[in-house]
Amino acid sequence: MNRALGPEQLDDDMEPGLDIAAPKSAMAICAHPDDPDFFVSGTFAKWAASGTVCTYVVCTDGSKGAWEGDTATNLADVRRAEQRDAADIAGVESVVFLDREDGFLRNTLDLRRELVTVIRAHRPEIVVTHDPWRRWRLHPDHRECGFAACDAVVSARESLAWPDAGMRAHRPDRLWLFESEAPNRFEDIASTLELKISALLAHRSQWKTTLGIAADGDTAGRESFAGRITEWGRRQGRTAGLAVAEAFREMSV
Ligand SMILES: [Zn+2]
Repeated sequence: MNRALGPEQLDDDMEPGLDIAAPKSAMAICAHPDDPDFFVSGTFAKWAASGTVCTYVVCTDGSKGAWEGDTATNLADVRRAEQRDAADIAGVESVVFLDREDGFLRNTLDLRRELVTVIRAHRPEIVVTHDPWRRWRLHPDHRECGFAACDAVVSARESLAWPDAGMRAHRPDRLWLFESEAPNRFEDIASTLELKISALLAHRSQWKTTLGIAADGDTAGRESFAGRITEWGRRQGRTAGLAVAEAFREMSV
């Protein structure tokens, strides 16, 4: 039976799982430059080391990621370069920039079509994105990106949805959500935590605003940031008995 024609499978009773085998290909669809590094870089770096072909898709240009009076006219260019450097550190092969305006991302059919095209082109075994159902989520881009990515996974598998996109339909084996309130997949990132911190440090334009690092010589700021990322990894791993982890919610695809 064509699973796409069957009733939607409920996943409330999905058993929690640790450390899946590295997939052949993986794609993270995120709202901003630096989101992949906060949420998936530990897992993707681990998979990449095992041969997974990894792709980041960044929906917005990150052009609002600065304080007043501190805005580089070319901030979007700077952030694109930083994201490429961060991807290199994690061993992620390609970064696709959709260049929508930061802060104004909407889950439109136009965005969904663009994501469908990217998913069908790269044909990832697993897609990972923001959990749009997380309660009290403030940033609209994260919410919109999560919905757009989930909706795109559905359309990408339907051969009659946008056949003019010129590519065969593709159904990923897995769809994972990060920042979930109810994670059921846990990836041990003990071997890649340092890479994750290095990848995050590649986002130099975000040092002051997001990372809390004043400048190159701010050793205390760097150590404090690394400590916060480590503690966050500990919290994500705690329920699974892992020292440091990235946690996800798997949905049926
Ligand atoms: Zn973000």
